[in-house]
Amino acid sequence: MARITLDHLAHAYKPDPQTPQDYALKEINHVWSQGGAYALLGPSGCGKTTLLNIISGLVRPTRGRILFDDRDVTDLATEARNIAQVFQFPVVYDTMTVRENLAFPLKNRRVPKDRATKRVEEIAHLLDLTPVLSRKASNLTADMKQKISLGRGLVRPDVAAILFDEPLTVIDPHLKWQLRSTLKEIHRALDITMIYVTHDQTEALTFADKVVVMHDGAVVQTGTPEELFVRPAHTFVGHFIGSPGMNILPCRVEGAAAYLGKERVALQRGYLNLPKSERIELGIRPEFVRLQPRGAGLPVWIRRIDDIGRARIARVDLDGRTIAASVPENLSVSGDEASLHLDPRHIHIYADGHLVAGEPLEGRAA
Ligand code: ADP
Ligand code: MG
Repeated sequence: MARITLDHLAHAYKPDPQTPQDYALKEINHVWSQGGAYALLGPSGCGKTTLLNIISGLVRPTRGRILFDDRDVTDLATEARNIAQVFQFPVVYDTMTVRENLAFPLKNRRVPKDRATKRVEEIAHLLDLTPVLSRKASNLTADMKQKISLGRGLVRPDVAAILFDEPLTVIDPHLKWQLRSTLKEIHRALDITMIYVTHDQTEALTFADKVVVMHDGAVVQTGTPEELFVRPAHTFVGHFIGSPGMNILPCRVEGAAAYLGKERVALQRGYLNLPKSERIELGIRPEFVRLQPRGAGLPVWIRRIDDIGRARIARVDLDGRTIAASVPENLSVSGDEASLHLDPRHIHIYADGHLVAGEPLEGRAA
């Protein structure tokens, strides 16, 4: 078991990389704490698999180091790193029984037979594989085979970390939920660092204590699901997490006010030292934008209202900008004229995608 440190890590598949675009991973500095349950979340192509393969040793990084605790493992082979990795598609030996498949990583490590047998039975039980232990793997469904793969990842109790690369892709939707809870239980029981790669925010938020969000080869934010929701450090996080995602509205900022076109929005912090940037945006989640009858607030036109089960979400138009807003339960809407109330505590200002902290206003607690 170990703390895993990525120190100035970067990777390009091309030889002789020149521009940032040549890098599949831009510079990453990150520490995975021992025993953490992490999700690595980001869209397809952002570099998640590359990062996992660097941690496990399948890929050697172009620059930077990987440390397990204080030991530099950058040049160590995969086998010497003591990492278990579960891939997107099942890796099983078809000619072996399920029991032999599960025992294989233990046999390789010369774990005594009685200990191995006990461990295989434990893992089989956790994954509901007990009834098929004696069957050949070849005749099983893709679901079952992926459970065996998961089992092979989980069976060694001595690993530094277990890396899961979108392991539930081939799993039937109704089984996904169950397997994810099983993984979480195993995490609690074993105190092993787990890094779970996914492009699905629900998977990430339900599995992980800490979510690492990647975008375009870079880590843009690491935080609890709550932190990612309340204070997205990057517009990408605001937009990617949440359903619907955060409203990101081009604006102009003057001191402690933002202007959406000609409409003024008072801010709770001052922004006298805004970085010089191409793009200034106001971010606010739909949960903190309330639709109300035309009157006080920002005047808007209702385009449509969707019932998404737990809430109603209105799409409104403000001076050419589309905004998603919450519709209070007791509000009955008639006609297409309405107003918006923006909760000032949840308004964020972004410069070129990055959150700007701003300064506390005079005479007001920070
Ligand atoms: P993800 O797992 O997030 O979908 P990957 O790490 O697989 O992303 O890919 C990141 C980028 O690196 C993509 O642009 C992909 O095309 C590129 N890439 C991945 N593997 C290779 C490879 N073996 N050779 C060249 N380019 C690769
Ligand atoms: Mg991948």
